[in-house]
Amino acid sequence: MLCGYIRRVTSETGDPLSGLTDPVRRLLAEPPVMEPKLLELRAIWPRLTPVQSMMADALRMCMITWDPLELHSPRPAAFGTVNTGPLELAVYLPFWSPAEQGTTIVALLSAVASAAVATAAARHPAVTSGRYPQLVWQGAAPDLLSDLTSGAALGLAAIELVSPGWEDIGLGAIADIVQQAFGPVELDRSMVELTAGYHPGCPACQGSRFGFPAELAEATDTMCRSHRSEAQKVIRGRMNRAKASNAEGWAALSDASARLGRSHLPNGLATKLANADEAMYVTPEPRELASRARLVIEAASWFPGRPQDLAIALGEDPAMAVLLPDWLMNLVLQLGRVGLGAEAIAVAEALSRVDPENAAIFYGDVAVALAEGGLAEDARARVADNLARWPGDLWVRIHAGDAIAALGDRVGAWAHFEAALAMAEEAGDLPGRSDVMERIISLEPRSGAETSSESDAQHQSTRPPQPVVRYQQRKRQSRAQRKGRR
Ligand SMILES: [Zn+2]
Repeated sequence: MLCGYIRRVTSETGDPLSGLTDPVRRLLAEPPVMEPKLLELRAIWPRLTPVQSMMADALRMCMITWDPLELHSPRPAAFGTVNTGPLELAVYLPFWSPAEQGTTIVALLSAVASAAVATAAARHPAVTSGRYPQLVWQGAAPDLLSDLTSGAALGLAAIELVSPGWEDIGLGAIADIVQQAFGPVELDRSMVELTAGYHPGCPACQGSRFGFPAELAEATDTMCRSHRSEAQKVIRGRMNRAKASNAEGWAALSDASARLGRSHLPNGLATKLANADEAMYVTPEPRELASRARLVIEAASWFPGRPQDLAIALGEDPAMAVLLPDWLMNLVLQLGRVGLGAEAIAVAEALSRVDPENAAIFYGDVAVALAEGGLAEDARARVADNLARWPGDLWVRIHAGDAIAALGDRVGAWAHFEAALAMAEEAGDLPGRSDVMERIISLEPRSGAETSSESDAQHQSTRPPQPVVRYQQRKRQSRAQRKGRR
């Protein structure tokens, strides 16, 4: 079972694991890519100055399988920050970064560790005093990892294992990574001790102290009434102070903590797809769309039959993620419009495996996409295939009309829309009927000049993208209708 969640690290350019010794090598060869995990490692250099040596002792370096800020694209190759009490250089390397930087894991780990130690040693008074994160945030000191060559003089470090295996990413790692990106958030994480009491069974009355925030929040349910309200007041107070200290950082911290327990895309894919919803407002270049299509196909391959989990992994709110995101539902049509017919087909196939229930929609879009991309013969063949496969599907029939209309064949399109109208009326599908009527009206000739087939084809090809909102509504309606009939 676990094997399904593990994908071996490979590289076309050579062995990404070269230079690593067992057991680090063994653990990094099979990272649990679908789970938010970290592996703590140590770097060892042959010669260091006393200050460098102090910083090397304070280095806590982790490989991570999940970047808590994956949706804040673009992201650096690695991130690090300083904590005090005790002193700690907390450094995180997403495990896909070495491949993206075109280097081996050991080379990038060594560069990252060396840069952190050299940068911190060069400014050790600010680092040890605890002012460093604030100075970095103000631009008055360099980020620990802004220059990955800054520790080159230390030489190549040997990498050893600290944690015995991959461990869960927790609030500590999330807080470090947020601090690097958004500056310090002043969340008081000291132990909480509540006032004395006399209720047997209440952990606070027994005099227990609670870790903050997780332990206290968990214990609240078992407390007596007065301790419950006291605990809630402490939680609210600390949360409000944290928010007041850095609203943006606090929002990022809350969001990442909430996303920790949800489904994730592996290999940094979520970051690469994070800005894809901009395509709803600006049509991307064909090259960008082609690369997006490849990423979508890779992402989809991890979620067969799980459209909701894919939507959540792409950053949708779980309460709203009934459907795949709008930009993804429109990708097939967009690919067609820029002439990427093969990519449109491949994306439709991939999305149909994720969401088989909506395969008719994706393949209906393929017909329109091929027609709008000028691939007339392929479009007609796809229309015929779709009608044979889903003879009773209203939207397959409507999209058959859309595709034929996009080819400039009014009469052919008309026939499909008439058939669709009859289907909608028979099913008592009023919204479907009005969608069909809208299309039939848009086929009506408006003036003498517009009836010529040339300007007609032009009109069709410059037709603005269908409003996405309607796309979504129609799916919701059809789902609700199916439910109603059962
Ligand atoms: Zn109590």
